[in-house]
Amino acid sequence: MYDFIISGAGPSGSYAAYILSRSGFRVLQLEEHSSVGKPVECTGLVSKRVIEMTGTGSIVNKVHGAHIYFPDDSSIHIGKEEETYVLERDRFDQDVSAMATGAGTFLKLNSKVNDIKVSGEKVTVTYRENGNMREDLAYAIIGADGANSLTRKILFPGQRIERMVSAYQIDGATNMQDQDSVNVYLGSKYSRGFFGWAAPAGDLSRIGTAGFGMSRENFKNIYGKFSNPSKITITGGPIPISSLHKTSGNRSILVGDAGGIVKPLSGGGIYTGMVSGEKAAETLIKAYENEDFSEKFLETYHRSWRSSIGKELSRDLIVQKFFARIGDESLTAMGRKLQKENIRRIINELGDIDYPSKVVMQVLIRSPSIMRHVIFPKRDRIGK
Ligand SMILES: Cc1cc2nc3c(=O)[nH]c(=O)nc-3n(C[C@H](O)[C@H](O)[C@H](O)COP(=O)(O)OP(=O)(O)OC[C@H]3O[C@@H](n4cnc5c(N)ncnc54)[C@H](O)[C@@H]3O)c2cc1C
Repeated sequence: MYDFIISGAGPSGSYAAYILSRSGFRVLQLEEHSSVGKPVECTGLVSKRVIEMTGTGSIVNKVHGAHIYFPDDSSIHIGKEEETYVLERDRFDQDVSAMATGAGTFLKLNSKVNDIKVSGEKVTVTYRENGNMREDLAYAIIGADGANSLTRKILFPGQRIERMVSAYQIDGATNMQDQDSVNVYLGSKYSRGFFGWAAPAGDLSRIGTAGFGMSRENFKNIYGKFSNPSKITITGGPIPISSLHKTSGNRSILVGDAGGIVKPLSGGGIYTGMVSGEKAAETLIKAYENEDFSEKFLETYHRSWRSSIGKELSRDLIVQKFFARIGDESLTAMGRKLQKENIRRIINELGDIDYPSKVVMQVLIRSPSIMRHVIFPKRDRIGK
């Protein structure tokens, strides 16, 4: 019998495992793949907060700005004093996992969770380890099993991620000219309701797009800008951009992508997933002390991550919903307005990839005419 079982060894689950194990709890973590961090499905852009939480050595580049391209191919550059980090994602996941196992977490690879039953005083987890069926027990389970979470499907049957984008990315053998900025591509040529990107990662560039429905044309229009680099890896997958109304239940908690705890404007989920992992661990420690793993007690978890990052995610989701409806013409017009010196200064000063709503609000206050495009968008592209 373990104290806690965690399904999934991504950053959200491993960070929760680390906090629980360092507090002396017996933690079993189950990962379906044969190694942590593979296959990679990520661009690896994170803020300094993630570096401070983990001390990871997986940094491959640091950037200080972004070139934003609009549908008419005009662009603006925004810069920031504070750096954004580009990580080697598999190494990052392995670093966070090493924090957990170093603190005492018992990690089983090649172990795919098949079934979870909550009854009486325990949770029974059935999994296939190297082809053999096994069963282990714990007081509670953390579902850290990503966007298609089985834990969510089994234990939270009424809960559905309402808003998801599909992402597709290639690591291309090409050096971006400006190694200090990422490129962001807006408009129907590049994405359906979200955006495309290119991020400099040393000798490679990570080039991708995400949207409500995936079009090969969208990707080609971005990839075509890079003189056909050879493809090193192809990745992609769903990114949930709206969180569940309920992320805790009887003896069970969902963290990270499994609970849709991801930034709606960028699809970035490493920071928010780790914050939720931390709150999950703190709640379970209290539950253990109180000998109470009931649905009511574990609601503290839902409230706790909501009061830390939930308001930001809700505001960003509203902005994303408006953004997805804006047509190319309006986007281009907005781009021209963002060129203004005072607006760019605000973006430079207040831009924060984890908490973008502040800068959005300030830009709208200083340039209210942008609001017209947001509220009465010209719908000349497919959005949602
Ligand atoms: C193309 C792309 C680019 C992205 N770029 C960024 C970015 O630049 N910055 C950023 O912050 N975020 C980015 N994201 C989002 C980010 O990758 C996720 O938000 C993040 O990985 C969530 O971490 P997690 O631990 O919650 O889930 P995951 O990292 O998905 O980990 C879940 C783990 O659970 C395992 N698992 C699943 N089911 C089972 C099972 N039944 N039994 C056992 N194990 C199981 C999986 O193998 C996996 O290891 C990107 C996503 C995509 C698709």
